[in-house]
Amino acid sequence: MNPLDGLPDTDARIRELDRAHVFHSWSAQKLIDPLPIASAEGSHFTDYDGTRYLDFSSQLINANIGYNHPKLVAAIQDYVGRLTTIAPTFANDARSEAARLIAELAPGDLNRVFFTNGGAEAVENAMRMAKLHTGRQKVLAAYRSYHGATAGAITATGDPRRWGAEPAMPGIVHFWGPYPYRSAFHSETPEQECERALQHLRDTLMVEGAHTVAAIILETVVGTNGILVPPDGYLAGVRQICDEFGIVYIADEVMAGFGRCGEWFAVDHWDVTPDLIAFAKGVNSGYVPLGGVVISERIARTFDERIFPGGLTYSGHPLACASAVASITIFKDEGIVENARRLGTEVIGPELAKIAERHPSVGEVRGLGVFWAVELVRDAATHAPLVPYNASGADAKPMNELAAACKERGLWPMTHFNRTHVVPPCIITETEVREGLGILDEALDVADRYYEGN
Ligand code: PMP
Repeated sequence: MNPLDGLPDTDARIRELDRAHVFHSWSAQKLIDPLPIASAEGSHFTDYDGTRYLDFSSQLINANIGYNHPKLVAAIQDYVGRLTTIAPTFANDARSEAARLIAELAPGDLNRVFFTNGGAEAVENAMRMAKLHTGRQKVLAAYRSYHGATAGAITATGDPRRWGAEPAMPGIVHFWGPYPYRSAFHSETPEQECERALQHLRDTLMVEGAHTVAAIILETVVGTNGILVPPDGYLAGVRQICDEFGIVYIADEVMAGFGRCGEWFAVDHWDVTPDLIAFAKGVNSGYVPLGGVVISERIARTFDERIFPGGLTYSGHPLACASAVASITIFKDEGIVENARRLGTEVIGPELAKIAERHPSVGEVRGLGVFWAVELVRDAATHAPLVPYNASGADAKPMNELAAACKERGLWPMTHFNRTHVVPPCIITETEVREGLGILDEALDVADRYYEGN
């Protein structure tokens, strides 16, 4: 008998066991009722009542290759029959090849890979490498950013998710990144925003003491804080500042990398080469947990003769690495990065612009690839958000109603504060994207009811 034959197989039983025994992330345990998912394929998943949802969330923006890709599933099944677990102290075929493929895709001389189980561990280790490489202690991170939920990564995070963990890791200082729609610098154009944000970073370094700063960590395109695409010139400016002061530039591409932005790495849009890139999610779409840091030769050499003091039992797990090899190969064979890029420029961008014209509550749409935000406002003139920052409970009602209106129509949305994000799998078809955007268009009437401007 297959030991998994005894798994609970009804919606009611799964919910009952979930409520009794599963402790959920980022949740008040009694206020949530997670939907049991029975099956999934491509860009859709289906619940136990047979309701099929088109997924505009990619789970947590990680299912870039979609669900149950037959070739990826077959490769994983094949590999698990060959080798199950090997400690990082051994070498392994899948790990070596995954590292080679990732190094080949990464820009510049980022040629070595330290594997982790996910994004937060990648960020932790990148910060540690930067500190040991420079002999300095501080890390600069942006407000409106998310870097993970472990001690250092959550401290680097610049949003309310950090509050519950404070005080956590000492030595992290926050600064404001560019966000033309809600500029911290009162800029009127993206060019001005770029210039002022770079000056603000220089000012921050001046008062912190640039010689005390090991690293600047930035999401290349900010993800869950609003899909903030940096203005042209900003990342090149950060690179220049890091070079000037001997600071390590860490690009957090846990969410933005591996096709999400229509490039293998989001920095490719601006031809910028960081010193370290943290990745996870899209590297194998979470079929098996995997993340890592791609490391420049210069930083890797720091640890040629000196021990790197860090490691994980499952670093470079063979099954996870085999799934990354298979996933990257499938991405290349099927042109999945190109699909994401084309859908962004030819379909999602233009269609969202039309939606913005039809709905007064849409303050701004922005993004690239399959990574877009629709930011909702009460008043287009003042940019007053449709719901308050960090709204929950009754305050979040308009966003909850919008999400419900999408779900009723078979679209699974991703909403955050006053935004709904359009973040489907990178393999989504044009027909599916148009269908989902059509549903979103209808559902946004709900948000318009809360609009108070003229
Ligand atoms: N960095 C970024 C930019 C992320 O979006 C996330 C996850 N949403 C993380 C780090 C943390 O990754 P994980 O949840 O795999 O630890």
